[in-house]
Amino acid sequence: MKIHEYQAIQLFKNAGMPTPGGEVVSELAQGLTVANRLGYPVVLKSQVLVGGRGKAGGIKVVKNEIEFKEHFVRIRALKIKGYSVEKIFIVPAIEIKKEFYAAVAIDNIKGDVVLIASAEGGVEIEETAKTNPQAIKKYYMNGQKTIDPTRWPEFIGSVFPDASDQKAATDILQKLITVFFTQDCSLAEINPLVKDAKGNWFAADAKVNFDDNAAFRHPDLEVLRDISYEDSDETEAKNLSLSFVKMDGNVGCIVNGAGLAMATMDTIKLLGGEPANFLDVGGSSNPAKVLNALKIILRNKNVKSILINIFGGITRCDDIANGILQARKELNIQVPMAVRLIGTNEKEAKEILKTVNIVSHPTMRSAVEEAVRLAKKSVG
Ligand code: GDP
Ligand code: MN
Repeated sequence: MKIHEYQAIQLFKNAGMPTPGGEVVSELAQGLTVANRLGYPVVLKSQVLVGGRGKAGGIKVVKNEIEFKEHFVRIRALKIKGYSVEKIFIVPAIEIKKEFYAAVAIDNIKGDVVLIASAEGGVEIEETAKTNPQAIKKYYMNGQKTIDPTRWPEFIGSVFPDASDQKAATDILQKLITVFFTQDCSLAEINPLVKDAKGNWFAADAKVNFDDNAAFRHPDLEVLRDISYEDSDETEAKNLSLSFVKMDGNVGCIVNGAGLAMATMDTIKLLGGEPANFLDVGGSSNPAKVLNALKIILRNKNVKSILINIFGGITRCDDIANGILQARKELNIQVPMAVRLIGTNEKEAKEILKTVNIVSHPTMRSAVEEAVRLAKKSVG
């Protein structure tokens, strides 16, 4: 889950990090009240969950009420990468002396959490990675949740050569690390982390993504969710206890167990096809899950064939077969299917499927082959 800047800033503030303050509004009149209270200049910051707001004209420092009105109205009417600006975050402008970059993220390849920092802040880190990669410094947590005093000085010195900056930066970075771990983030980023003309530090922009798999540990964060940025099929699937991720291909998949679902997608690719989704119906056995899964998958018009691959354990094959029957009755299914069911109650399942002339494939490979072939045939 991604949250808006104003929400992430609040999280940082609660963790004791220095932030410029400010308030989020939707209407001009409210905005003017906030600006008058803060005093000019203020920065108007569009709240959209996509990058490059600045470039799109969604960030503007304004010096007075006239400028405020003009730019508030303009920004509020913007569409940034297809998303309308519903809220504007109004913050006191900082007299920026230097912009840094700081983020805590997951390095999937190393299997570790990494703190990334750079003295080249304010620009997108991907840009710095291309133009000036040596300016990006990385500090691996080595499985720890706090900084290691023996390795730290070298790292902090490489980004902040000034000793007086190192103290302030260390405090902020340690707090950023703490936020990352306590809130189960997948990313906690400050860009820019700024030092102002008086030597004060601020997190001037905040980006926080949470690991959805840990959402159950943070019921308090649910209110931060902005559903206008979430795929409605994924939201519905989640509410129906289905683990579902939409993808770009045309072979719809219904599988039990995350591991088998991944292996099934790999096999589809291996045999020349493209999966339309990841879907795990496992966890409990219930025909309704198959019906719900098919409803969601068939809504995707790219889907040209459906592959049902079940290795029955807790999930009973007869429940799956009954789900398929129910779906065929209730939904007008035009898309061809390839089915492979083995394991618990396999025999019963095959009897059920026989009544609608579906034959279970003997192997996963042959089922995948057929699903890929059917999808290709339909595309022509
Ligand atoms: P982003 O484009 O979505 O990353 O938005 P940011 O919040 O990072 O703002 C983009 C840039 O606007 C920053 O890197 C700063 O250079 C500038 N900016 C943001 N806030 C202020 C401010 O308070 N004062 C000044 N002078 N510039 C600001
Ligand atoms: Mn930024």
